[in-house]
Amino acid sequence: MKFDDLGLSPETLKAVKERGYESPTPIQAQAIPAIQMTRDVVGLAQTGTGKTASFTLPMIDALSGGRAKMRMPRSLVLEPTRELAAQVAENFDVYGKYHKLNKALLVGGESMQDQKKLLDQGVDVLIATPGRLLDLFERGSILLNDIKILVIDEADRMLDMGFIPDIEKIVSLIPPMRQTLLFSATMPNEIKKLTEKFLNNPKEISVAPAASPAETVEQFLVKVSNKNKNAALDQLLKQEKVKNAFIFLNRKRDVDTVSKWLKEKGYKAAPLHGDMPQVKRTATLQQFKNDEIQLLVCSDVAARGLDIKDVSHVFNYDVPMSADDYVHRIGRTGRAGKTGRAWMFASEGDEKYMDAIQKLIKREFIAFDLKGSKTDQESAISKDRKGDDKVKKPKKSKSSYSDKKPEDWDEELEGDTFGDDIPAFLR
Ligand code: AMP
Repeated sequence: MKFDDLGLSPETLKAVKERGYESPTPIQAQAIPAIQMTRDVVGLAQTGTGKTASFTLPMIDALSGGRAKMRMPRSLVLEPTRELAAQVAENFDVYGKYHKLNKALLVGGESMQDQKKLLDQGVDVLIATPGRLLDLFERGSILLNDIKILVIDEADRMLDMGFIPDIEKIVSLIPPMRQTLLFSATMPNEIKKLTEKFLNNPKEISVAPAASPAETVEQFLVKVSNKNKNAALDQLLKQEKVKNAFIFLNRKRDVDTVSKWLKEKGYKAAPLHGDMPQVKRTATLQQFKNDEIQLLVCSDVAARGLDIKDVSHVFNYDVPMSADDYVHRIGRTGRAGKTGRAWMFASEGDEKYMDAIQKLIKREFIAFDLKGSKTDQESAISKDRKGDDKVKKPKKSKSSYSDKKPEDWDEELEGDTFGDDIPAFLR
């Protein structure tokens, strides 16, 4: 199928072609015609499948005819995080460049005054996170009676983040004569119920994940105690030819500490987490995209779904407590046909999280300690359950860290940690 066959307007087609896309992705090929027929749609699809354009393109055409009234947006896209909302807004800019649609982004942490001003001018597309939208609604700055198209994106993440009551409230404020599109990577019961309650005879579309990161990303696991993680990271950053990397941590306060430590070591690092002011988050992301920052030290919520091209590495400084987060994290690299490498540090107490990840990705991790010797039963660091080993067995190393004082550790890491015994994948 070609984009030309989808019945999109010439202006939208032109913008798509300028973007360089050859043909629609499976979700686009299925969702666009259904949306054009004004049907409700449930799309079971993850980021990376092209789902954003699958709703953005037909929405642009559907909205191109009318005009928005003051404070009464004509369509609403709900996103779980500010970054995802910004990404969707960018999509509307790119694909809607030959249309005159007004767009507003309502996210927490940015000036409410500016957002109100935009709403007063009348917006065709409103992209919002649930909290800020309700806030402005309760202040009387926005009316939802004119919404004709509602998109609930990343519904399962909304659920994880506790937004479902907000979503229910928002949907109850929108007239039932509307088109509703809901996208979710998974379909837990709560989301199923939501679709039954709010969608009318939806067309159900399910697409396979674009390419599982578990296949496009080489994955490595190192056993290291918490106190030695910084030094291990420093060493890996030096030996891995890191162009740029996401470094994921489980706790926000540790994000700041590790980022500071890396900066002191001379790396171009910056933190990114949900407690930072939005202006700072946006600026940091932009610097990372521009290669002004090499290492983005972040929490999960700040980085979900981010589509940044050419990220060479992901480091899991902590094992994530949710297996899904692991897949999201490593999926920040190995995008768009590029290869990526993902490292994870595991320490005592992480076993149950590791088990959950292994089940999800259907692979077994084989842990190596920092001496470069294997600590588990098998020889490969990550092999699939069918047994095709990815990495050859490393030899045993000479020195042990258990008998070293922590203060000597840095030096040891630089020195003979791996030495000649360094496994091939560590070189
Ligand atoms: P999404 O799943 O919406 O986050 O999109 C993932 C990536 O795929 C983004 O970088 C899009 O720019 C890209 N993309 C979307 N549609 C297409 C297409 N038809 N062909 C190639 N790339 C696309």
